[in-house]
This record gives sequence, C-alpha cells and structure tokens, in this order.
Amino acid sequence: MSALFLYQKGIIMKEFNPNRYAIISEKNPREIVMLRGKGCRWRRCRFCDYHLDCSTDEKANFALNQEQLQKVTGIYKKLEVINSGSFVDLDESTLERIAQICLEKEIRQVHFECHWQHRGKIRDFRKRFAALDIELKIKTGVETFNKLFRESYLDKGIDAEDPAELAEYFDEVCLLQGIPGQSAQSMEQDIETGLSFFERVCVNIMQENLKPIKPDPAVIAIFTERLYPKYCDNQRVDILMENTAFGVGGVVEHAE
Ligand code: SF4
Repeated sequence: MSALFLYQKGIIMKEFNPNRYAIISEKNPREIVMLRGKGCRWRRCRFCDYHLDCSTDEKANFALNQEQLQKVTGIYKKLEVINSGSFVDLDESTLERIAQICLEKEIRQVHFECHWQHRGKIRDFRKRFAALDIELKIKTGVETFNKLFRESYLDKGIDAEDPAELAEYFDEVCLLQGIPGQSAQSMEQDIETGLSFFERVCVNIMQENLKPIKPDPAVIAIFTERLYPKYCDNQRVDILMENTAFGVGGVVEHAE
C-alpha cells in the first residue's frame, strides 16, 4: 500500500473528490485508477491517513469504481489499481469489473496493492486472474527494510525479518522517505535492497498530513540533492516527490 496522503494539516475535509484515473506515460507506462473499498484493516501506520478514503457502502463503492473503470482504454495494456488498503478490501463486483475491463481492453498485466497481513490471499488471487491470462503484480508498502525503525516508529505491521521473506509474496515495494531519522545512506540502502529483491521500487516522499510523523525538510533536501539524480532515470524506480505525481489523489475541494 502506497502512502498516498490525502488530507492536509489544518484542513478539515468537507468533501474529498480526487482525480481517480490517470495515464502514466513514463517508466512502465500504464493506466492507474484509485478505487474505493471498505478501507485498510491495519490503519495503524503513524504516517498515513490514506485509509480515510473508504466506505462500508459496497454499492456506493461499486458505483464510484465503475465510473472510473469505464475510463480505462487499455492504451498500454497495463493497469494499476490502488485503493485505501489491499485488494481484499475491494468489493467482489469491482473485482469482477476489473477482470471484465481487462478482457475487453486486452490488458494483460494488473498491479494491485496488498498489506503483509493479507499475504495468504495472494496466491489464489493470482490464480484467479491467471485463468484469464492476466498477470498480476502485487505491490506492498514496506516503507523501509530496517525492521526496528519500521515497526517501532512507523508501526507498519510487517513482522518479516528480511526482504527475501517479503519477496516470496510481493513483486514491487513502496518506500517512504524524507522522514526524521533517515540519512542518504539509509535511503540509498533501502532503494538498493528494493532493487535487489523486487522488480520495481516506488519511493514516496513524505508529505505532511494529520498523522504524527512529519516530513523532515533536511532529509528531503538530502534526497533531492543526492538520491533523486541517481535514480530519476532508473526505469525500475518511480519517485513521487508529490503524492499526486501519478495524476491521482490530491485534494480537490476543501474548507477551513
Ligand atoms: S497499511 Fe498503513 S500505509 Fe497502508 S493504507 Fe493502511 S494505514 Fe495506510
């Protein structure tokens, strides 16, 4: 699960109406949809309020998701699906619709997100789509491979000891960078570990929201000066300096 921070400090949301469909033309070109499910079941990460984009109303979720999925054209034959949680949090009608759209538009690869706690569901989910000749790429937000930092500070909920254990289940990882306690060396080490064990790495630079962990401007400056130039042309590394860099998310309407 990517850390896509939806709410901004000091802003009380009256309506959240983000862009939910975009085309990513650079690096692993694909279409991306930000769908809505019943919400992340972990909800404890101390840097994330992404899980607020959820509803227990399955019909309303499906209606919203259907509207976005109708925009998918299959232009690059690849689709990324993100939602505030894991694929297990999407309703069955939405999953059916995704599969249907893929068949209609000849999309052969779909990326989904999944938290570590749902790793046991991944194998059958892959099989379900493989039966339709659709390959799944499963992404997880590990944020950092430093377990002590990750679990004692971020409260990420991943008890895996090493990256190989994660790589048994996941194809891609998200990293969270630009927070207190990180250095050029620790951030580079995380990116290199990600590249060694996974197909793709997505670096999310921390943006302020209502949660306790705040961005560290000095760490972000280090990333910008030393790491961004090193990885910006790496086709296996996505870097989101802003949480809307993929063209989805963000705050459209707010008050106060
Ligand atoms: S697992 Fe953590 S980062 Fe992902 S949506 Fe849930 S609270 Fe947010």
